[in-house]
This record gives sequence, C-alpha cells and structure tokens, in this order.
Amino acid sequence: MTSPVVVLGFGVSGEAAVRHLLAEGQEVLVLDDEPSPRRRQAAARLGVELHETPSGSALGTLLGGVEEVVVSPGVPVSHPVFHLDLGSRLVGEAELAWRRAEVPIVAITGTNGKTTVTTLVASMLQASGIQAVAAGNIGVPLLDAVSGNATVVVAEVSSFQLALSYSLRPVVGTWLNFAEDHLDWHPDIEHYLAAKARIWLNAGAGDLIVANIEDPVVMREAASASKDRRGQGAPQVVTFGIGEGDFHRGGDFLVGPEGEHIVAVEDMARSLPHDIANDLAATATALGVGANLAGCRQVLEGFTGLPHRVELVGENDGVRYYDDSKATTPGAVLAAMEGFDSAVLIAGGRNKGMSLRELRGVSAKLRGVVAIGEAAREVEDAFRGASEVVVATSMHEAVERAVEIARSGDAVVLSPGCASFDWYGSYAERGEDFVRCVRELALRTGSLDPGGGAR
Ligand code: ADP
Repeated sequence: MTSPVVVLGFGVSGEAAVRHLLAEGQEVLVLDDEPSPRRRQAAARLGVELHETPSGSALGTLLGGVEEVVVSPGVPVSHPVFHLDLGSRLVGEAELAWRRAEVPIVAITGTNGKTTVTTLVASMLQASGIQAVAAGNIGVPLLDAVSGNATVVVAEVSSFQLALSYSLRPVVGTWLNFAEDHLDWHPDIEHYLAAKARIWLNAGAGDLIVANIEDPVVMREAASASKDRRGQGAPQVVTFGIGEGDFHRGGDFLVGPEGEHIVAVEDMARSLPHDIANDLAATATALGVGANLAGCRQVLEGFTGLPHRVELVGENDGVRYYDDSKATTPGAVLAAMEGFDSAVLIAGGRNKGMSLRELRGVSAKLRGVVAIGEAAREVEDAFRGASEVVVATSMHEAVERAVEIARSGDAVVLSPGCASFDWYGSYAERGEDFVRCVRELALRTGSLDPGGGAR
C-alpha cells in the first residue's frame, strides 16, 4: 500500500480529485480550512472523512509522510502549504487530469480572453462534428472531462493550475496575451510569467504552439519553446494577430495562413478589436486539432459573446448600458473601451495588486468616471487631471451618478479593472447587481430597451 494522497480544499475540483483517487484504490486524506456541515456531508457520501487543516508545524508533520498533496484552485497563496518546500509533491487538480488523459488536450491560457476562446474552440470543434468538451475553469472539472466521452478536451488553464502542473502536454497550446494580473497570488510578475510559460513546458514534435504575434512577451516565450529542447523534435508554431500573423485580419475578412477567407467581419455578431484577436486565436487552435473552416465560420457568425463581457444590457434615453464585470484587470478595461467613442466608466473594486494608472490611457474617450469599491481612491488618482471622477459607495449610487453624467449617444460601461470581492461574492453577482440597478433607474425615468450584444 502506498502512502496516502492529501487533497487540500474540498470544493468542486477537490471533490472530483477525491472521487477519482478513491476509484483508483488510492488512500485519500481530505483537508479543508473551513469544513462546513454541507461539505462534511459531501465527504460522507464519498465515504471519506473531512479533516480541518492542522495549523502550524502540525501541517508540516502531517504532510511530511504523504505521497502527494493535491491543492484546489481556491487555496490562497498565503496558505502555509506553499511554504513547506514540498517541491513537485505539490500538484494541482489539473495535474491529476494531465496524467490520466487518454484523449488529446487543447490548452488555452492568457491574461484575458481564456473563457471566451475556450468556449469558441469547443463550439468550433462541435460544429465540425467532433465530440469536444470545454473544461477547467469552465464548469466541468478537468478530471471528469478527461475520463468522459469526449474525443477532444478543450481546457482553460489559469496561472494557478499551470504553476502546479508538470506533465501537461497539449496537442495545441494557445497563449493569448500577457499583462499584469493576480499579483495578489503570485509574489511578483516574473513568477506569474513563469507559471504561464509552463503551457509549453513539454511541447515537442507533433505539437502545435499558437501564439499572439502582437504580444512581445508571448512571442519571446514561443521562440524559446519552439526549439528542439529534448532532441526529440520541435513543435510547430502558428501565430495570430489583428494586423499580422498566420491568422490575421485582411480588410473585411479574417484570413488564414494561405490567404483563405475564414469569415467576413460584417457577418460576425461581435467585432471589437479584442473580439477579432480572440476569434483568430480560436480559429487557429480549432483548425489545429481537426475542425473545418465551415464549422469555424458558423460559430464566428453566431457568437454574441459570454455574459458580463462587454454585454449590452439595455438602452435608455439614448444611453447604452454595458456590463463588463468580468474585466478584472486594467488591460481588459483598455480592450473594452476600444469599442466606445464616448463613455462613462464605472471602475474599481478590490485591486489584485496592480497599478491602476494604466486606466488613464482611456481618458480621451471618457465623459466621466464613477469610482467604486475599495480601490475608489486609486481610480481617482489614476484619472486626476485627466477626467472627472466621482466616488460612489454602492452600485445603485454608481449607476445614478453615471446617468447624471451621461449624454445621449454615450455608453455607460461597468468595466471595473478590479476583482469583485470587496462588495460581492463573484464578478457575476456584481454584473447582475449592475443590471438590476440600471433597470430600477430606467423604471423611474422611462423605458429600457433590453440589450442584444455588442459590436
Ligand atoms: P478570462 O477567462 O481570461 O478571464 P474572459 O473571456 O472571461 O477571459 O474575458 C475577461 C475580460 O477580458 C472581459 O472583460 C473581456 O471583455 C476581456 N477580454 C476578453 N478577451 C480579451 C483580449 N483578447 N484582450 C483583452 N481583453 C479581453
């Protein structure tokens, strides 16, 4: 009998890890920092006991003798487990999936756009008649996806998962972009970059690297990953970019490496610059694992975007309201604002350890700014002297202030550039509250036309 495997953090993915390990006959010890009665019941259903994580040196003693520690994505970097020098005995739930996968895996990472591109790629494969499933941060735990019926698994992989992955070798590994993020989790930007670069750690002959030619950091890492690092052949590199790259925008069309037309821009439901970049990345990725052009085109023509990502949620008195609550980095805010000529920006929340000064770059397009949440002062500082800023202490007040500032023809955009956890449990709750406040206000002042996606 081998020594037990410890699963730390018993949420959705922790539970999946426990299920799979038990099914393989592995002895499992489950730890959680706050085991609630509901979680205890879930553990009891699986026939395991849920222990509260011991504190201090007791944790080190306990983990000293175990084979491996599987860490769930929700465990914060401040957790003592990360300071115990466990080396490669510390793995993420995703690592268990990579080891067990018998189907080809497509992995998608980047600072912004992962969920969108993962959704697009899975849909493109399905539209091409391939049984693909989207997994990872999106719904299905990776371990379940790799042991299900799908013939291709499209995995959204975050920097946390990559940092604790060792054997990931996707047939197609796509890296969308790189900007500051998660500096509340990673000790510094180099640590974040090193985690992201692990997407291509094991890339070799027969694998495909999809890289953003317009992102110098991604291209530098692609150049190093494209070498024959193990003497067993090098992966192939395919690039994408709005202005250049194997997949690019050529006039009114998205175009492939042979100059083939993928889709006419005017036929697409969304075409902000970052939408185009995501569409090109998704097409390059999907074609790399067996999709056909017709399937890709069909998806690009029909895709109206995911909720809370520059989503048009209503129009009132000539002002359009957009929910971009998923924009939790300054980079995502800059991308969103590309789509507007004159807007009132609602920004702020819990800063993830980043400089918000970059936001100042959108001042020219702003009628005004409403600063919210813990980072309201930082938002004020970022725009000082460049744009009018008012501070609101609730979402309701933020929408009221925005309505006062906006003129007919403007957009009001909730694009916070920060996490939501100061006021809400998730970015989705924040977006829903914004929509509720917009509707309430519209009820008082007139009528609200429902939204229908952004262009
Ligand atoms: P992720 O899963 O990486 O967080 P999402 O697809 O959920 O990415 O989008 C998150 C936010 O980033 C949204 O506000 C979206 O509008 C913005 N975004 C999406 N794609 C890009 C991109 N390629 N560049 C910059 N921002 C983007």
